[in-house]
Amino acid sequence: MAAATRLISRLTLVTGGGSGIGQAVCQRFASEGASVVVADISEESANETLKSLTSDCRGQVHMSAEVDVSSKESIKKLITNIQTLYYQPPSVCVNAAGITQDDFLLNMEEEHFDRVIQVNLKGSFLVTQAVAQALVACGAPKGSIVTLGSIVGKVGNLGQSNYSASKAGVQGLTRTAAKELSRFGIRCNCVLPGFISTPMTDKVPEKVITKTLTAVRAGLTADVLKTEIRRLCSS
Ligand code: NAP
Repeated sequence: MAAATRLISRLTLVTGGGSGIGQAVCQRFASEGASVVVADISEESANETLKSLTSDCRGQVHMSAEVDVSSKESIKKLITNIQTLYYQPPSVCVNAAGITQDDFLLNMEEEHFDRVIQVNLKGSFLVTQAVAQALVACGAPKGSIVTLGSIVGKVGNLGQSNYSASKAGVQGLTRTAAKELSRFGIRCNCVLPGFISTPMTDKVPEKVITKTLTAVRAGLTADVLKTEIRRLCSS
C-alpha cells in the first residue's frame, strides 16, 4: 500500500501532540489519511497542531484535546470524548508526551524525580491501559501502540537519572504489554530515538550536545571501520 494512503480510515491518538515529535507524528498520520486526536497538556499547542493538519481524504476528522497523561481521570475523560465523537476507540496510539527535569543525581529533588516518572512512565502505562481496555471492550480489537522511549534509557545520561529511569521503564512496560496484548491483535512497540531537535532538547546544555555529537561521530566511524574490515576479510 502506498505510504500516502496507509492510514485511511484509521483513528489515531497522539499524546504530546502539541509539540516536537508528537506534532510531527500527527502531521504525518494526517497526511497518510488518518483521523488524528491531538492530545496535549497544553490545549493551546494541541490546537496549533490541529490547525496544521491536512484532511484530504474522505471521512478524515481531526480533534484536539487537553489531557494530563499522569492523571487516570483525565485519560478516562479523553477516551470517553473520543468514543462519543467517533463511536470507536483509537486503534493507533502514540505515547509521545514527556518531560525532563534535569539535575545531577547528588542534587536532584525528590519531586523532580517523581514528576518525570509520573509523566513519562506512569503516563505511558495509563494511556496504554486505557486504550487497550477500550479496544478489548469494543469487541473488535486490533491496534498498535507505540511508546517513545529514549536511547538514554539504555545508556544513561548526565543529569538525567529520573529521565533515563523513566525511559528504561517504558521499555519493560512495552515488552510486557506486547506479550499480554498480542492475543488481542494489539501490537506494542517502543522506539528509542537519540537526540532530535525539539523544544525538549532546546533545554540541553551546549556542552552535553557537543559531547553527544562527538560520541555519535565516534560510533559511526567505528561502524564504518568494522564494515570495512569485514569486507576486506571476506574478499
Ligand atoms: P516536546 O517537544 O517537549 O513535546 C512533548 C509534549 O508533551 C509537549 O507538548 C508537552 O507539553 C507535552 N506534555 C508534557 N507533560 C504532559 C502531560 N502530563 N500530559 C500530556 N502532555 C504532556 O518533546 P519531544 O522532544 O517532542 O519529545 C517527545 C517524546 O519523545 C518524549 O517522550 C521524549 O522523552 C521522547 N524523546 C525525545 C527525544 C529528543 O531528542 N527530542 C529523544 C528521545 C526520546 P509542555 O511543553 O507544555 O510540557
